[in-house]
Amino acid sequence: MTIETILPIPNIFEAKRILCIQPHYDDNDIAAAGILTQLAQQGAEIIYLTVTNDLMGVVDHSLSDQEAADALKRDQFAAAKIVGVKEQYWLGYPDAGEYDYFAVRRDLLKYLRMLKPDFVFTCDPWLTYEAHHDHIQTGLATAEAVMFAGLTKIASSDPEVDSAYEPHEIQGIAFYFTREPNYIADISATWEDKIGALRCYEAQFTSQEMEQLVSAFDTKSQQVAQGQSFARGEPLKVLHTSALHVGI
Ligand SMILES: [Zn+2]
Repeated sequence: MTIETILPIPNIFEAKRILCIQPHYDDNDIAAAGILTQLAQQGAEIIYLTVTNDLMGVVDHSLSDQEAADALKRDQFAAAKIVGVKEQYWLGYPDAGEYDYFAVRRDLLKYLRMLKPDFVFTCDPWLTYEAHHDHIQTGLATAEAVMFAGLTKIASSDPEVDSAYEPHEIQGIAFYFTREPNYIADISATWEDKIGALRCYEAQFTSQEMEQLVSAFDTKSQQVAQGQSFARGEPLKVLHTSALHVGI
């Protein structure tokens, strides 16, 4: 008997409502727009939640914070249209700034209890050589909040959401930006959509950087599909929510 017999890797294609929690406004799409577009096309509701305000990476320094925030949202909505994202939420924590881990976790508990997704996507906080604190905080707070979503003694940032909460099962969590994938999603059919979505992110990349990004993903998407029966892939670590503690 293997551990997968007891805790089988959940099937992302069974998910009806997927909450994708990202540190910055483009991470979900850079890492997983291919599979998320496919899931949306098959009828899943895709919801994005962005933890930080993402203001540090905006290329045009002449923009005020408000103008930069507007440009970021404009990009995000253009990409969301391609991917098929239904709703978006923002927490607005300072990009690359100082903020409290537990405050983020409380907010994520609120959205998990309120939106009741059956699957959650986020960045892998245990990625080897990940130096960006926003990624570590977001991935870890998401994983912990997924694990604690049903335990309402652990308060969210909204007591009304906690008191109205009814038990709800989150089937699984998919970590992107991972070096330990256990699932390679076939994104051959949605590759063009993914590149189209990435190209919407104009505020944060110069055109030269954008070409580098597209070229890197062109190579990488084919590399990760080697040995598979398809041409392009996105690597994910997909776990049953009960596999998020003590290594079971
Ligand atoms: Zn990021």
